[in-house]
Amino acid sequence: MSATAADGTSAVTVIGYGPAAHRLVQRLRHHGHRGPVTVFGAEPRPAYQRAQLLSVLDGTLPAEALALAPLPEDVQVRTGIRITAVDPRRRLVRSEDGAEHPYGILVLATGSRPVLPRLAGAGDRRAPGLRVPYTLPGARPVAKGPVVVVGGGLRGTETAYALGRAGHDVTLVHPGGHPMHRLLDGRAGALVAATLREAGVVPETGRRVVAVEPGKVVLDDGRLLAAGTSLLCTGTAPDTALARTARLAVRHGVVVDDRLRTRDPHIYALGDCARAAGRDHGTLESAWDEADALARTLCGADGSRRAARHVVRPRLPALAVLGPPDALHAPGGQDEHVVLSDPARGRYGRLVLREGRVRAGVLVGLDRAVATVGRLYTEDRPVPPDRLALLLGTDTEYANSSVLPDTAVVCQCNHVTKKDLRQAWRQGARDLPAIAAATRATTGCGTCTEVVRRICETAAASCRGPAMNAAVAPPVVKGLRT
Ligand SMILES: Cc1cc2nc3c(=O)[nH]c(=O)nc-3n(C[C@H](O)[C@H](O)[C@H](O)COP(=O)(O)OP(=O)(O)OC[C@H]3O[C@@H](n4cnc5c(N)ncnc54)[C@H](O)[C@@H]3O)c2cc1C
Repeated sequence: MSATAADGTSAVTVIGYGPAAHRLVQRLRHHGHRGPVTVFGAEPRPAYQRAQLLSVLDGTLPAEALALAPLPEDVQVRTGIRITAVDPRRRLVRSEDGAEHPYGILVLATGSRPVLPRLAGAGDRRAPGLRVPYTLPGARPVAKGPVVVVGGGLRGTETAYALGRAGHDVTLVHPGGHPMHRLLDGRAGALVAATLREAGVVPETGRRVVAVEPGKVVLDDGRLLAAGTSLLCTGTAPDTALARTARLAVRHGVVVDDRLRTRDPHIYALGDCARAAGRDHGTLESAWDEADALARTLCGADGSRRAARHVVRPRLPALAVLGPPDALHAPGGQDEHVVLSDPARGRYGRLVLREGRVRAGVLVGLDRAVATVGRLYTEDRPVPPDRLALLLGTDTEYANSSVLPDTAVVCQCNHVTKKDLRQAWRQGARDLPAIAAATRATTGCGTCTEVVRRICETAAASCRGPAMNAAVAPPVVKGLRT
């Protein structure tokens, strides 16, 4: 057996046991890989769905619900073992106990690590009540009492909102002028701040936490805020420590080519730790796309990939973000701007178009437009002439085209199409848990849950016949006719 060839028989060692590694191994076996596979994970537990940690933190889901399906028995999974060095010359990795483990093909799937601020009084960051909700222990449910969320980027804002909705007394401290200031412009940010307030969250923007004391945090203007729990949501960065020990190229992530190969032909990288051209850092969809592609490559098939475009749907009501943030903040001179601002009704849309196609955008409170605009963006199709009707979701031609075709992928995380969902429904899966068990839809990041529910409702309505259908308003979910 070859130890190195990418032909479906080589011995594969994967470092990191998060969603990217888990999907890679599943797909390797799916594509017929027959060689030995070993996975090393630093966390003491099997892989789990990190993107759903917020649901554990706010008490919606028990920790066990995040577990990913066990890997096939012939895969050697070694949890609780951190790999500390790679020796590409001898083609082996070293674990923290000093043991050496040879590899044929090495895959780095070390994910990202939280970026933590220096806070006086935080010492080794084990100050009472201070935590980083990035792992299952860090995301255990929040106890009663005041909560301070430190950092109002995407994850911090989602966290503050979820905890506010769950009835906690939450303050969100964020140095930017408005929540998610790198992703959103000022008007969208103001609407998000209003949504947070409605959920009972106090946004403290333009402020930083500089120190922690028992039961309190100290702001940079000297004020003290009560904080039974303080959650550090201060960003993440690709975890490239191991790649550096192998002297691989690192630039905001391990540099890889379009086949996810590093400059060492025996070492690949994927998921949050990797820097692939055109990739959205830190999204599960990108990690899973890469896992699918790399599995094909390692099985000797064509695993080249084109970076896919994704729409970011934060866990906040009626918000969608498209494209790179810099395109929104510093658009090019030839870009066309379409802006709809209706603050009284909480609606705001801004599209940046280049050569008649969506390059970037933000939509708040414009649910009827999200599906259509999202598809125009992800498929890079020209937008219709009536831009305003597009934003309002009233362009009939385009609204009709937002009826999902059977081939549409509804659950991006698990690649479940509308056709798969309807088939599961016909085979007896009649509610969300049954659909989830049959297809795994909704078990990834969870943002497709509403669409899946509506597809079930539409299937049920069409079974009841046309007379009944006529009485049912056409279901529109987030602007998407199902
Ligand atoms: C709170 C939160 C909410 C999120 N929500 C969403 C969302 O809604 N939508 C979305 O698309 N994405 C979301 N994400 C991002 C998503 O979870 C990541 O994109 C995804 O987890 C990346 O998977 P990964 O396997 O590359 O990395 P990770 O999940 O980071 O896993 C990497 C694993 O490798 C291990 N490891 C690292 N170094 C070593 C080593 N040297 N030896 C052994 N093991 C090692 C780590 O301990 C970790 O277990 C969220 C993330 C967080 C934290």
